[in-house]
Amino acid sequence: MAYDPNNVFAKILRGEIPCDKVYEDEHTLAFRDIAPKAPVHVLVIPKGAYVSWTDFSEKASDAEIAALIRAVGKVARDLGVAEDGYRTLANTGVNGHQEVPHLHIHLFGGRKLGAMLPSADW
Ligand code: AMP
Repeated sequence: MAYDPNNVFAKILRGEIPCDKVYEDEHTLAFRDIAPKAPVHVLVIPKGAYVSWTDFSEKASDAEIAALIRAVGKVARDLGVAEDGYRTLANTGVNGHQEVPHLHIHLFGGRKLGAMLPSADW
């Protein structure tokens, strides 16, 4: 899938719409989800134009990949959820129910998150 530069996270990266930023470095931006599903719900995104985990894992530089992974850990520590635990999630494509076509890692914490997925009904 080609990258759509009009997706909402591209607009955030260009400063065209605001975000509640919690972390930024050369390669990565992290901000609070606009519709949080936990007391801590942050999206960690690469600044580069990558549609998904599939795209990023194939095309991103080692520095970009390291920055994203380190940023997730740093945000968890900085927001105080590392000790009690948290969940990371990257929805990918149609089956993964990805809504925004710019790679984002959800970081959820601050409450017990329950089972990974609803009971299997497939
Ligand atoms: P996904 O379904 O994995 O693509 O998740 C997209 C997430 O982006 C959802 O949790 C939305 O609430 C969130 N979202 C959409 N627009 C914004 C925005 N402007 N600022 C912060 N989060 C957003």
